[in-house]
Amino acid sequence: METQIVIKSGKQFSYEYIVKNRLVKIYEDDDKIIIAKDDSASRELINEVTHYSKKENVEFVLYEKNDLDELIRYLHKDEDRKILNSVKDDNTTDLAKLASDAPVVNLVNEILINALNKKVSDVHFEVYESYFRVRFRVNGLLIQVGSYPKNVYDAVCARIKIISKLDITNKRFSQDGKAALTIHNRRIDIRTSTMPTMYGESVVLRFLGIEESLHDLKSLGFDDKDIAECNAIIQKSYGTFILTGPTGSGKTTTLRSLINMIDFKSKNVITIEDPVEYTIEGINQVQINEKIDFGFNSILRNVLRQDPDVIMIGEMRDEETADLALRAAMTGHLVLSTLHTNDAVSSISRLLNMKIPSYVIESAVLACAAQRLVRLLCPECKTEFTPDGVTKQLFEKYGMKVSTLYKPCGCERCAMTGFSGRTALFELFELDEKIREYIINGESVSVIRKYLNDNGFRSLFSKALEKAALGLVYVEEVKSIIGEVK
Ligand SMILES: [Zn+2]
Repeated sequence: METQIVIKSGKQFSYEYIVKNRLVKIYEDDDKIIIAKDDSASRELINEVTHYSKKENVEFVLYEKNDLDELIRYLHKDEDRKILNSVKDDNTTDLAKLASDAPVVNLVNEILINALNKKVSDVHFEVYESYFRVRFRVNGLLIQVGSYPKNVYDAVCARIKIISKLDITNKRFSQDGKAALTIHNRRIDIRTSTMPTMYGESVVLRFLGIEESLHDLKSLGFDDKDIAECNAIIQKSYGTFILTGPTGSGKTTTLRSLINMIDFKSKNVITIEDPVEYTIEGINQVQINEKIDFGFNSILRNVLRQDPDVIMIGEMRDEETADLALRAAMTGHLVLSTLHTNDAVSSISRLLNMKIPSYVIESAVLACAAQRLVRLLCPECKTEFTPDGVTKQLFEKYGMKVSTLYKPCGCERCAMTGFSGRTALFELFELDEKIREYIINGESVSVIRKYLNDNGFRSLFSKALEKAALGLVYVEEVKSIIGEVK
């Protein structure tokens, strides 16, 4: 952690005093003093310092013990103190230059690294009359981690705006932006929001899916066979892969993981998203903006002129999008996209309903998949039970013999819910000769479904039962979420 200390009047406490009492002056002018302390400072000590400072305004800032230790060590190294003076509050107007000064860059980096290490969800920069403070939201709680003199705040804000591609000269209106940084070889995606307040702009950085973005398909809950099938599909040079599922079923995460499995060095990968939630290094991501006439269809037409190998389309929402996407696949591109349907087979009927000709579907679609997220039983408190005859029969129908299953109970670790985390259920089929023939002949979806079921298709429902048999999920819950499609 790097703290900037400004003492405009008076002197820093003596080093002995600092070590003994664990108090550090971080700001002082004629009428105000700000002192860093940690939990150990007694009320008496605080009263004493307040009294002897003879300032109108005495403020204490709570630091975490480690951060205060670091601050004390830092004070001991005299040469480092020069950092304080290198950012002057003169009337420099070249904010961009100021923002690129090493101390400012370092300060922002240190704050971000600290936030990353502490797995925070948000970082708040809040400015007051004479200082600004930084707070982290960790596990839902805001914790102050530092306070700094106000004279560096404009430069800090400008630095954040530059990395978030925001207008540094605009301080009067709220702005929203995104930053993608690589710090210590880790990629961080940040959503930045600025807002004018009484003494300057307040800035909030939201860290996007830090853990999530590291997930691969396996940790999402895909089994080896699912992964092998997905891998085979994304290696193909053309065709469409359609992933379906309701909102919140984890489709975006899966598509992102699939994109990550593609070799970006040898392939041109372009995504069209609304909005771009996560950035992936090495691929071209295009954000849809209907307002400025940068809508989906005009983007897709532009994208096709960019010689792409792989195109990911966030969602095929309407006939025109679906038609363009499938025709792109027919002309030698691998297209990954999503549709709103309940199961994989229904994507065929959905496309037909969107008036896509059956010959286009038959030749453009490689595979269809569906996904759901279901809650995992808390491993600490899940309880064995013996299923009744009907339940046993249900499992037998899917080729499984079960004598015990698990149900939720509730403990401190899972906040008495009985569940902890979620896992994906996934079904996938590739269009083979027979299915293509069914589509061309206008056979109903139930004919295709029967064919699949007779040929070893592992449906969402059977996957749910498999996970229930393994004691990972609760059978009654997955039955109510997935439902058996006959
Ligand atoms: Zn529990």
